[in-house]
Amino acid sequence: MTETVQYLIIGGGMTADAAVRGVRTQDPDGSIVLLSEEDVPPHDRPPLSKGLWQGEELPAPPHDLEAIDRRTADAGARILTGTRAVELDPGRLEVLTDRGHRIRADRILLATGSRPRTLPDETGSVLWFRTLQDCRRLAAGVRDGARVALVGGGFIGCELAGSLAARGIPVDQIFPEEAPLADRLPLPFAHLLADQLDSLGATLRPGHAVTAFRGTPGALRIETDEGILGPSWGLAVAGLGVIPRQELAEEAGLEVRDGIVVNEALETSAPGVFAAGDVIRFPAPRFGEQLRIEHEDHANDSGRIAGSRMAGATERYDPIPYVYSGIGGITLEEVGVPAGGDPDEILVPTEAGGRGFALWQSEGRLRRLLVWNRPGRAPRIRRLLRDDPAPPTDQVVELLAL
Ligand SMILES: Cc1cc2nc3c(=O)[nH]c(=O)nc-3n(C[C@H](O)[C@H](O)[C@H](O)COP(=O)(O)OP(=O)(O)OC[C@H]3O[C@@H](n4cnc5c(N)ncnc54)[C@H](O)[C@@H]3O)c2cc1C
Repeated sequence: MTETVQYLIIGGGMTADAAVRGVRTQDPDGSIVLLSEEDVPPHDRPPLSKGLWQGEELPAPPHDLEAIDRRTADAGARILTGTRAVELDPGRLEVLTDRGHRIRADRILLATGSRPRTLPDETGSVLWFRTLQDCRRLAAGVRDGARVALVGGGFIGCELAGSLAARGIPVDQIFPEEAPLADRLPLPFAHLLADQLDSLGATLRPGHAVTAFRGTPGALRIETDEGILGPSWGLAVAGLGVIPRQELAEEAGLEVRDGIVVNEALETSAPGVFAAGDVIRFPAPRFGEQLRIEHEDHANDSGRIAGSRMAGATERYDPIPYVYSGIGGITLEEVGVPAGGDPDEILVPTEAGGRGFALWQSEGRLRRLLVWNRPGRAPRIRRLLRDDPAPPTDQVVELLAL
């Protein structure tokens, strides 16, 4: 039997929750079904590597979920957890689930997010860190006293290294670059980050490109392009970046290009099928390019706008990207889009706890701003950019009030 609803949202992340709320801004009563493969309702993901490790107790049910639950059902959505959409028929606006249900809708949203990149793992025990379940498994492992190998020098690796080390949990962070986040930050900042993680007690092992995980669960060995790294670890956690979960769209014949392609209305190449969040490639006219980004702010905004458009609103998605991270007591924020080369202006603090910034311009316009340890200032500058894409550098620095 086929069930019919007005709005069908596929995905159980922050984008899906934001979309439910977006629908409700236009349509207080329309029927909404949300399908999520996860067995828990939508919740905030950023605390999985940060806030949840700061409380007295380690992450464990039910207190961890209670702290981050988005309470999506309160907005009047029916949430089917543990249910995966396996087939999309864009012509009929119909979806088949892995439980054999068929659901037809007036509008469908794909908010399927992204999945972690992986490496060969003969132990079957590596945590490709993404979900609350991964977070709980990590907490269970460290409760048992396991020494942790954190593989990856990106945000997830750094945040977890800071969070675990601050609790006195033995942790080695292994990555190919010369310092954590060195592929993203100007080197002096990356070295300050290394100092901070080191001072918290994390052991940094730069210069190692991991290729595989060997050994057995509880006694993992790490293979690199130069041989096996010693000793062995009780637990390995990987943060190696993500790839968009676009297969449902791809198999349905929708346009995909390293992400589901959407227009400024967040509609895919199939009329009536929208997409938002980590999984989309969208036009960013302010920056003259197509983007795919994986940040909380993007999940919230694109989700909300997609939801409201499905219910008849006309707002366009025209973001100025914003990302934040908290690493061992340091706050990092970025506004804008990636920019290559040296920054046009830079102020590096003398110690990790100080304040700093770096700023990149392109044809007179502010392209990227990095703010070090001045929480809350980057969003102000983003607001400024909405009206003036080329603010004078003096004005930006003044707003940073360093
Ligand atoms: C540990 C961690 C920390 C982070 N910290 C920060 C931070 O500090 N700052 C920041 O800006 N960003 C951060 N991010 C990134 C941010 O959380 C993501 O960009 C955001 O969660 C993306 O939301 P999403 O809903 O688009 O995708 P996802 O969170 O990936 O959710 C997708 C959902 O869809 C479900 N799904 C997929 N396919 C199907 C299907 N076929 N059927 C049913 N369900 C399906 C998945 O199970 C999942 O529930 C962090 C991410 C992680 C993992």
